[in-house]
This record gives sequence, structure tokens and C-alpha cells, in this order.
Amino acid sequence: MQFTELPLHKSILKSLSEARFQRPTLVQQKTIPLVLAKKNVIVAAQTGTGKTAAFALPIINLLFNKQDAEKGAKTIKALVVTPTRELAIQIEENFTLFSKYTNLRTTAVFGGVSLEPQKEKLAKGIDILVATPGRLLDLQLQGHLDLSHLEIFVLDEADLMLDMGFINDVKKIEKLCPRKKQTLLFSATIPEKIDDLAKSVIKNAIKVEINPEETTAKNIGQLLYYLPKKNKTDLCLHLLRNTINGKIIIFRRTKFGVDKLEQTLLKNGYKATSIHGDKTQSIRNKAIEDFKTKKASILIATDVAARGIDITNVDAIINFDIPNIPETYVHRIGRTGRAGKSGIAFSFCSPDENSYIKTIESLIEKPIKVIEDHPYPIHKPKHKKKQTNTISKHKKSRKSTASKKNKKRWY
Ligand code: ADP
Ligand code: MG
Repeated sequence: MQFTELPLHKSILKSLSEARFQRPTLVQQKTIPLVLAKKNVIVAAQTGTGKTAAFALPIINLLFNKQDAEKGAKTIKALVVTPTRELAIQIEENFTLFSKYTNLRTTAVFGGVSLEPQKEKLAKGIDILVATPGRLLDLQLQGHLDLSHLEIFVLDEADLMLDMGFINDVKKIEKLCPRKKQTLLFSATIPEKIDDLAKSVIKNAIKVEINPEETTAKNIGQLLYYLPKKNKTDLCLHLLRNTINGKIIIFRRTKFGVDKLEQTLLKNGYKATSIHGDKTQSIRNKAIEDFKTKKASILIATDVAARGIDITNVDAIINFDIPNIPETYVHRIGRTGRAGKSGIAFSFCSPDENSYIKTIESLIEKPIKVIEDHPYPIHKPKHKKKQTNTISKHKKSRKSTASKKNKKRWY
């Protein structure tokens, strides 16, 4: 399917072809016609599947005939609420790009920067507002926002919004909007909490779900290394020296782990940078910018810090720690092999993580290819029996001198 087969205005199609978007992604194919038909829609599709354009394109199309308000008489007709500043900026960029050949104006407001320029932009009049919850409520309280003409309300990255504790803010914001409006909710996953939120803010929604198997793994090579925990850094350096090239994201579970690995890689001469929740917004932005512009070729991240951030053209990802939530694995590897490009995902599994591999393999419905030919091999676990209890019991003893013996218990 081509974008030209969708009922979008020519000027939107023109901006798409300039942006080299030829084919709509699966989520875009399914969502765009529903939004154009003014339906309320709940969309679940993993990071990197193109959810932004799935709402931005039809919204621009719906507002197309309302772009030419008298000067200074523009009203906010679409509002996109998103959890982080990075996401707000990305969404604004998308709207601006796709509405290049229209008179529709978009602006983004978010915390951590001065209010004044944002107030000025709002005062000049805009059609589409992208906002983080806190700043939106601030501006509303101070009387700089009029949402009474709103027609379309979008909640983007809803799962992250809930994880970041924005649920009450989101409900408050929804109440500021007119009752009669079109509501769209986008999320990477739909946990129960989202269902609760959806019930309170969306009525009669149509659900679009793109399951991970449809979008993952087609172009992504997935390789699994079983090794002792203590050798993970060595294996990482070994692979960086001999096997992995290009832009790489390394995921770690903890902030401490991220910092420690960054130090090690820097000491070994790699151009590495990192993001996690203890770093300030401006430092995180700088890290992402450095990675995007290839000043740094390796980005080390925790899952939360990396969520929703659009980082494309990643050649490889390394699961330095195996995520305990299987969907996280799918999100992580979704960062490579995007948009038809092939990518590769390396996973380092130490004995205490064996059970995570099992849940991941059952989610993706296939075994991950095990690489045994590496410097720190241990055997892959033979039996698919539960090990949860033995894990904590033996964790300490593994550090003792008898650790080698104990290791046998793991596989
Ligand atoms: P999501 O919100 O699902 O995580 P994004 O909207 O951030 O995904 O899109 C991920 C990347 O894919 C972005 O760089 C975007 O520009 C690109 N992209 C989206 N749709 C298309 C398309 N139809 N063709 C080519 N690239 C696309
Ligand atoms: Mg998104």
C-alpha cells in the first residue's frame, strides 16, 4: 500500500514524499482511515512502528479546511498530550513537517524551560498544541490556554504517562476540553491501568492492536549468549572489538549499571554516552543529540529513559541485562531493524536470568538463537523447569569460593 491510496490532501502527500515516507506502516494503514472517519480510537503498537504519523496525518487532514482563520483568530483544535519533553518536541516536528504546505500552526509546550516564549506562541494563535501534562495545567491555570474549541484530543504514549504518575493530570486535562470531541489514545502496550484510564476518558473507542509478532523480528537477527555474570563486560568489549559495528544501544536494568558500563567503555576508547532517570533533562537531551549526530556511537540506557524516544538507524542493540518483563525485550529489539532495515540484537544471559529468557521466548513464540562460540561460554539451561526459588537461595553462595561448583545448579 502507498500513501497515495489514502484519502489525504495533495499537500500532505507532497510533504510525505519529501520526507521519503512512501508506504504507511501497518499501524498507520489501520489507524488513519478510522481517525479520518472521526472515530475514537485506542491504538497499541510497539515503539518505532510509526504511531506519531498515524495520528498527525489524519489530524492535519481533518483540520485542512480550517487552516485559514483570520489573523490572530486561530483556536486550538487539536491537543496532543505526551509524557516527556523529548516526545513533545518530536511530535511537534512531525506536525510541522507534514503540515508544511498548509497554514496550520503547531507549537509544543513542556516544563523545564521558561514560560514566556510559550505564552507568546500561544497568544499568537495556533491550531495544534503538543504538551506535557504539568506545563499544560500551569498554562491553563494562568489563563493562557483556551481549549473550548478543541475538536481532537490525543493521549500519546499512554502507558509511559501512567508509569510516570500523570493519570490524575490527564483526567484533569480531559475535563478542560469540551465534552464532544474525538479522542485518540496511543500506547506501546495496553496494561490494565490503561483500560481504566480509557474507560474514563474515551467512549465507544475502536481498538487497533498490532501484536509484536507482526512487527518484530522479521529483519532482526536475535542472538543469545549464555555466560557467567562476571564476564558480561568482557563479552561486551569482545563483541565491540570484533563483531558489532555502527550505532549501538546497550540496555541495562539499573542506573548504576549504566554509569559503570559507560565508564568502562570510555576508558577503552569507545565514544559512549548514556541516559537514565538520575540525569538532568538537558544532559539527557545532549546524549540523545550526540547519538543521533553520531558524535557518540554507543548509547547506554535504562528502559524507562529510552522509552518513546525516536532513535532510528540503530545497527545493533545489546541486552546487557535480560529484561524481566518480556514486552520490554520486544520494545528494545524494535529499536533496530526499523523501517525495513536489518538489525541485530545481542542478549547476554547469566544463570540468574534464565527464567526471563523462557518468558521472552514464549512471547515471541520462537527460540532465540544461542551462540556458543564465544570466550565465556557456559551451557544453555537444559530443563525448562522453574528456577525462581533456587535463584535467590544461591545468589550469595555463587560469590563464594565454591561458586564454580554451585554454577552447575544453573544449567
Ligand atoms: P512510535 O511513536 O510508534 O514509537 P514514531 O512515530 O516515533 O514511532 O516513528 C518511528 C520512526 O519511523 C520515525 O523516525 C519516523 O519518522 C519513521 N516513520 C514513521 N512512519 C514511517 C513511514 N511510513 N515510512 C518511513 N518512515 C516512517
Ligand atoms: Mg510515539
